[in-house]
Amino acid sequence: MALMTANEYVESLRKLNTRVYMFGEKIDNWVDHPMIRPSINCVAMTYALAQDPQYADLMTVKSSLTGHTVNRFTHLHQSTEDLINKVKMQRLLGQKTASCFQRCVGMDAFNAVYSSTYEIDEKHGTRYHENFKKFLTFVQDNDLTVDGAMTDPKGDRSKSPSQQADPDMYVHVVERREDGIVVSGAKCHQTGSINSHWHIFMPTIAMGEADKDWAVSFACPTDAEGMYMIYGRQSCDTRKLEENADIDVGNAKFGGQEALVVLDHVFIPNEYIFLNGEYEFAGMIVERFAGYHRQSYGGCKVGVGDVVIGAAALAAEYNGVEKASAVKDKLIEMTHLNETLYCCGIACSSQGAPTKAGNYQIDLLLANVCKQNVTRFPYEIVRLAEDIAGGLMVTMPSQKDFDSDTVVGRNGETIGEICKKFFAAREGVSTEDRQRIMRFLENMCLGAAAVGYRTESMHGAGSPQAQRIMIARQGNIQGKKQFAKDIAGIQ
Ligand code: SF4
Ligand code: FE
Repeated sequence: MALMTANEYVESLRKLNTRVYMFGEKIDNWVDHPMIRPSINCVAMTYALAQDPQYADLMTVKSSLTGHTVNRFTHLHQSTEDLINKVKMQRLLGQKTASCFQRCVGMDAFNAVYSSTYEIDEKHGTRYHENFKKFLTFVQDNDLTVDGAMTDPKGDRSKSPSQQADPDMYVHVVERREDGIVVSGAKCHQTGSINSHWHIFMPTIAMGEADKDWAVSFACPTDAEGMYMIYGRQSCDTRKLEENADIDVGNAKFGGQEALVVLDHVFIPNEYIFLNGEYEFAGMIVERFAGYHRQSYGGCKVGVGDVVIGAAALAAEYNGVEKASAVKDKLIEMTHLNETLYCCGIACSSQGAPTKAGNYQIDLLLANVCKQNVTRFPYEIVRLAEDIAGGLMVTMPSQKDFDSDTVVGRNGETIGEICKKFFAAREGVSTEDRQRIMRFLENMCLGAAAVGYRTESMHGAGSPQAQRIMIARQGNIQGKKQFAKDIAGIQ
């Protein structure tokens, strides 16, 4: 099958029986819901750019499984060049959407589960790798979006899955049948879950023998019987429900999406199971998925950062201060921070190596350093953006005020005219353009998009401490001690 167009992707979602709840109610036409649609538009961009000849080399690639042309978001990386192109593709998508475009979690899950199932089969004689190859071929052939679902609710963090008072705190097998398994539990803050055709579930921590029933990985359709989602709300999200509030929304076209995904006794046929009790491999899947997704942030957040820097520069220009040396210096600092993140994304990709299964994996230490920097630099970038923009980005009246005909002035001036008079930009720049860029920055720095640019930079792909554990493991302190000993003459 050919690659889907953006429109075909949107239409394909309508055919699913995905169960979505928001504000305490079931949403039937969620595809056209004003709070959800921007996140769908964002995933649709991964389809639209793949149709654009200008981006063909970045967005499409020959499948290692079938030799057909597939969207890179469904690809198994075959070289360090593929890993680098992945990061470049994510930067491009960030530049085009200024949001989280969601489809990367599936790509990162494909690559982690592909290599892990190979090694599980090698040890246990299971057939998970064949299952996975068959599943991924189906995904590539149909150009599907798949959610990579990892983060369990976790309950009492001091306890392992099997020690929890409520076993559902981690996704687990409740019944083993001849033809498959029945699973229950949930995954929290699932990026793009509702907008995905299928899900791949993976464990979220390394596990011991007692946790066998929780060591499970599988694929299932998003509308599987027993599965539903409760939509995660974002700061200022109800602005999207207001009429004529496009400017106030800040980024009316695109946005991210997170949801709570619940599995209530969902049946998974044997052919979609990729791990079922081989607990010693849970940690491998987590480490590899997290590694790929930490690499991803050296692309997507950099692309979004490009737009934030551009918006700050426009705000300065509209205010007539773009030539001030202090402003120029802040833009240089923002660029320096953003490109440092890109360096990290490219570095961990260029130092990648083949796994036993043959697909390429990033350098884990460098990928974790990449993400650790992402937990910091976007915060400094938005601090500088707010500094340049000025307080107006959070104090400006609403679009309704700017549009209002209500008379307030002594000479019959309307509220709209008063707003336009006092919020005028420098000559040659319309007040509306100034409004737009201020509201866009508000959205990026502390509105709905801040979910994707700030808090997701902190906690997405693992919180900072998770990277520090990996940095400690991969940092080779013993080897470094030896360098010092050799030079200092210590036996
Ligand atoms: Fe992709 Fe970035 Fe969103 Fe993760 S946070 S899904 S890498 S855009
Ligand atoms: Fe993320």
